[in-house]
Amino acid sequence: MKYLVILGDGMADRPVQSLGGKTPLQAADIPEMDWLAEHGCNGLLATVPDGYAPGSEIAHLAIFGYDLDRVFEGRGALEAASMGVPIEEGEMAMRCNLVTVEDGRILNHSAGQISTEEASVLMSFLQDNLGGDGFSFHTGVSYRHLLKMKGGNKHIVCTPPHDIAGQPYAGYMIRPEPETSVFPQTAPAVLSSAELAGRAETARKLNELILKSMEILSSHPVNIARARAGKCMASSIWPWSPGYRPMMEPLSERYPQLRKGSVISAVDLIKGIGVYAGLVPVKVEGATGLYDTNYEGKAEAALKALEDEDFVFLHVEASDEAGHDGDPRLKVRTIEYLNDRIVRPVLDRILKWDCPVSVALLPDHPTPCSIRTHTADPVPFTIFRTSGCGADGVREFDEFSAAKGCYGTLPASRFMDLFIEQQL
Ligand SMILES: [Zn+2]
Repeated sequence: MKYLVILGDGMADRPVQSLGGKTPLQAADIPEMDWLAEHGCNGLLATVPDGYAPGSEIAHLAIFGYDLDRVFEGRGALEAASMGVPIEEGEMAMRCNLVTVEDGRILNHSAGQISTEEASVLMSFLQDNLGGDGFSFHTGVSYRHLLKMKGGNKHIVCTPPHDIAGQPYAGYMIRPEPETSVFPQTAPAVLSSAELAGRAETARKLNELILKSMEILSSHPVNIARARAGKCMASSIWPWSPGYRPMMEPLSERYPQLRKGSVISAVDLIKGIGVYAGLVPVKVEGATGLYDTNYEGKAEAALKALEDEDFVFLHVEASDEAGHDGDPRLKVRTIEYLNDRIVRPVLDRILKWDCPVSVALLPDHPTPCSIRTHTADPVPFTIFRTSGCGADGVREFDEFSAAKGCYGTLPASRFMDLFIEQQL
């Protein structure tokens, strides 16, 4: 048996007035996705464990069956794997945004969507001037980079810069996590003075680094050129989401039948999770993470990988972006693209294969257009096997139909076992 997961990021939604009270999944014309639901088994999956924010990284780790309390180490640590940067014992990794600061305020979290080309010059400049002394800077994509710190303590309070656009940064500098905080990381009830000092020292050093970056970045030629062109400057670093090396065992340890697998995604965070799960990231030209992504290329890459591998995780970001844009029509279109340009060609091909294939179709979390952000509501999922698995009367792939499926509502921790048939 071969296994293919097709995940449409943020695809689930709520009924939308302008779509006649339908959700984008209900409004979309998606015959192949409906066919999968009709010939497969369906249910709702609760992908965001209690106490966690509904981020893509949380939902994906939960879908992969990882215990978040044990393995979650923050975005930086996950993205590092995709960037090919190892995190050693005793090192802390953080997502490091390039942000625009003006008059003491964070103007935007993305330095005006700075290009990777310009950002890589600035990241090298930061490495040359502020690297060493336990810090190293690594270039990612656009405004999303990586900062590593030797001996850092991850129990610090950082604020995602996209949450504080327009606000004075001074109130959001990094603080040591207070003694009473026990969530989500395990912390002993009484902390040693060395632990508290370690937290304070980490926060102090990072704040110093942020202020130093402001001093040297504004006069850099890249920024001067950006300012002249009327673009936002990358005037500061903003490190957040700290963590150590994730202790994630590869999927093959849990499921020996998954000897070899691939992850296909335009998003570093998802690729990084795949890498820690033991999957090989496949580069697809023209995979943008937006509605104009190379759907055909991704489908082709998935089919090619499946030919001699056991497991492929195919992630498409587009519908999440449409949800964040609050654009239900665009969201419907991204879902139809997923159906016509990925699900249809994949289905066409695998139905002709001699080797049986299991296909799972699901979002990671809803990104309702009405609120333009993620929610923790359970998402529809379907599991179809070319070898047959008994239909359950569900005829369409959407939030309300799936609720009537034979799986009912399950926690995400059950998904991989069900899909890989461990319990049978
Ligand atoms: Zn997501």
